[in-house]
Amino acid sequence: MGLFDALEPVGVEIKGHELHCVICRHNRFWRRKAQLNSATSTFLSLDWTDASALCYECDNCGYLHWFMPQ
Ligand SMILES: [Zn+2]
Repeated sequence: MGLFDALEPVGVEIKGHELHCVICRHNRFWRRKAQLNSATSTFLSLDWTDASALCYECDNCGYLHWFMPQ
């Protein structure tokens, strides 16, 4: 939940490739942004950054696809 959440599922393109769900091959996703300033990022010494990951949740089956910012 946040300001960047889309109002409806969207098509996603990653480096010129259309994203299809790895489970059901659907191509509409809910966009999420996940903060990583958790125990995991502290363990990885990333807690000095504003580490966050982009997540795309399949509109059909709910599978969550994670992408680290580049
Ligand atoms: Zn799916």
